[in-house]
This record gives sequence, structure tokens and C-alpha cells, in this order.
Amino acid sequence: MVALVFPALPTVTLAVTGRPERFPVRRIFCVGRNYAEHAREMGADPEAEPPFFFTKPADAVVESGSRIPYPPATANLHHEGELVVAIGKSGAMVAESDAEAMIWGHAAGNDLTRRDLQAEAKATRRPWDMAKGFDKSAVVGAIRPGPLPDAALRCTVNGAPRQEARLSDMIWTPAAIISALSRMVSLSPGDLIFTGTPAGVGPLNRGDTCKVEIDGLQSATVTIA
Ligand code: MN
Repeated sequence: MVALVFPALPTVTLAVTGRPERFPVRRIFCVGRNYAEHAREMGADPEAEPPFFFTKPADAVVESGSRIPYPPATANLHHEGELVVAIGKSGAMVAESDAEAMIWGHAAGNDLTRRDLQAEAKATRRPWDMAKGFDKSAVVGAIRPGPLPDAALRCTVNGAPRQEARLSDMIWTPAAIISALSRMVSLSPGDLIFTGTPAGVGPLNRGDTCKVEIDGLQSATVTIA
């Protein structure tokens, strides 16, 4: 038993569909520009580059149905509706053909973004951390175990449609993403991967309720208080 100078904070966990046990979150990785139309709306060429990654801390997780404050240090909070892949095995240098076996389950997610800080970071060639990895920036619905067939992804704000796509519209499949990411870092059970957002990202204001829906999964819903 290791003596600690103060009690360690509890592990962040997420609900699992159909089971009482919860999913312990280890790390959160996110893919940039994985839908061609969104890459174009952000001024990038969707064919130009391999997948790239950024991260959020695990304690940025917000469970679906939560109310969160409008985050500090931004005047342009954006929603990004995404499929989240939950990793259940350890692996490094994983071949694309072996990558599906790394997946424990799937969830709907919202990669909340301080778009003004991201634009400033891009312009000044600085890191995205404070634009992406802030407190309560990773909204995630319950994780459903097992594989996920192609499905529709929708993001609405106060019921009005903002983003709509098929998961099959992704430039890189979850297997390709896992394979690429596992060549950068060793993946472990509990890692979450936000797989990128389709076109239609936009602002969230105080009082808005943003709902990300993927057929077959619990929605990832958040209200900005
Ligand atoms: Mn995103």
C-alpha cells in the first residue's frame, strides 16, 4: 500500500448501456478533420494529410444530461458532434486489420471547442490545448458494448438541426484511426477516441441544449447554464 500525501481523485467513469458496471476512462484522444465537408469549412484540404490527433484530459468528461457553465476565456463556444470509440485492449503498432478487436464499445460525443482560442492558436502556431482540453469539454453518452453498424449522426441545438452525416462519411474509419494512433502511442483499456466531426459546427450560447444523436446509442446531451 503506497501512502499518498493527499487522497487521489476517483477515476472518471462513464455509464454502460445495459450493464450496471461503469467504464473507467483513462485518456481522451481526438481526431482532427475526419469529414471532407468539415475540413473544407475549416479552410483545409481533406485529401492533404494523414489523421492528426489532439487530446483532452480524462476529467474533462461530462455525462449526457448534464448542465455545464459557459466556459471561461471564450466568446465562441462551438459544438462538434462525434462518434466516440471506447478502447478495451492494450496495443501498439496495431495493423488496421486487427484494430476492430481493440474496440470495447461506442458512444455519442460532443467535442466542445473554444473556436476563438483555436483560431488564435492556429494563427500564432501555438498548441490547441486551451481551445480543446478545457474543463467539461468532452460530453459523452453511455457506452454501448460491441460493434456498431453504419449509422446516422445528428447534432441539434434546441431541436434545430446543425450537423447531419453518416458515420460512413468519415475519411478514416475507426480501424484506420486506431491503427494510426497506436503508431504514435500505446493504447490501453479505458482510452476514448473522438473520431472527428462533420460539417455544420457552430456556436452554443447560454441556455442552449445541444444533443448529439447516433442511431442505436444514447444521445450525448448537454445544456449550457
Ligand atoms: Mn472534434
